[in-house]
Amino acid sequence: MDIIETTEKAIEETERIHKKLNCFITICVKEAKARAKELKMSKKKGRLFGKFISVKDAICTRGIRTTAGSAILANYVPPFNATVIDKIEAEGGIVIGKTTMDDFGFGTFCTNVGKGLPVPKNPHDIGRATGGSSGGAGAATFEFSKDHLALAESTGGSITAPAAFCGVVGVTPTYGKVSRYGLIDYANSLDKIGTMGKNVSEAEMLSRVIFGKDKQDETSWTQEEKPAKKIKKIGVIKEMLNGVDEKIKKAFWNAINKLGAEYEEISFPLIDYSVASYYIIATAEASSNLARYYGMRYGAQEDISGSFSEHFASIRSKYFSDEEKRRIILGTFVRTAGYKDKYYLKALRIREKIKQEFALLFKRFDSLVTPAMPIIAPKFDEITKLKPIEVYALDSCTIPPNLAGLPHLSIPMSKVNNMPVGLQIICNSWEENMLFEFGRQVESVLK
Ligand code: GLN
Repeated sequence: MDIIETTEKAIEETERIHKKLNCFITICVKEAKARAKELKMSKKKGRLFGKFISVKDAICTRGIRTTAGSAILANYVPPFNATVIDKIEAEGGIVIGKTTMDDFGFGTFCTNVGKGLPVPKNPHDIGRATGGSSGGAGAATFEFSKDHLALAESTGGSITAPAAFCGVVGVTPTYGKVSRYGLIDYANSLDKIGTMGKNVSEAEMLSRVIFGKDKQDETSWTQEEKPAKKIKKIGVIKEMLNGVDEKIKKAFWNAINKLGAEYEEISFPLIDYSVASYYIIATAEASSNLARYYGMRYGAQEDISGSFSEHFASIRSKYFSDEEKRRIILGTFVRTAGYKDKYYLKALRIREKIKQEFALLFKRFDSLVTPAMPIIAPKFDEITKLKPIEVYALDSCTIPPNLAGLPHLSIPMSKVNNMPVGLQIICNSWEENMLFEFGRQVESVLK
């Protein structure tokens, strides 16, 4: 089969998967076919030749609608590509579709989607959520038969959660390792583009293509990587097991024992403040990022009636979801004069202390491991009963490494009640070599 035929097959498969699992916002039929023609003519093949890439809908794709999962951007078509898309195309990869997500990344289940946009279903049980916010990416990665890789994004756990709930591998790199140019911001100091694949090597392949400093993003960086060494000593943070379902805990300890590495349980009391600090920092940044969507330069365009304030309020009331409004209110509150010291600045100090404590731990341990999520993928009707604060608390395993900008990997470790559960491996900043190496080690023992 040549690239044109394989592309047609991949489009058919994408459509079939979407029908079953609702995991795409846009399927790039025309664009993928055009790319396949170009690739057939060109001599250069590249590292991703023959691979089909699904892209989380917060990542801008030239000429292809990019919604960030929000109704306020439902008709946005970017005139430019994110750097990661240019890199993928330069290596012969074909963008096959844009995957579903919680609006702007605000969620843990991929059920907070903008009005009119699809809610993805878990491939292991369609009555359950995929995890979020990169839910479409997780479901698609599990369901594709082959040659598919996913671009996802994490602010506080959006790659690990869906990877764990859908039973695939998710990579969140060191903060700054991948350019954020062209990523629609949730919280700039936390956002990281990462990848998903069916196994560590697949996810690594796509990651290596997108890694590296980019002059369009001043916060991106390339750092010489130390060669990977064998993992000898791993740490288990006791506080990160609080609130984890008993069956998942059991699966976790089974996995640790199988690894054969020396491990030590350690206490890291500040971890208990990570969820609270994260939601303060993330919403503070989000509320400021979302201020630009009011239907003039950005966001749904409607005829202007009334004053500026009336138009501003009417567009935002109509198109923002409850969760978007909640985060704007919370984020605005915590950075308001008078409350800033009490909440926002305190949260920043806690984040700094957590970073320092992690740095000390990596002097003693090669890697830290935790369960990826404290529960298995919940049913849709269970989710509607949860209060926002109960949902936020479920990010307790994923927030600490995200807050500290550390690279981490989620790998399927076993099943609980027939649903996949994941193991989360955390390494020191810029030690992706070690992360992938250890990931492969873990994968081979847990298979
Ligand atoms: N669940 C977290 C939140 O809602 C993380 C989401 C993400 O990483 N985008 O903020």
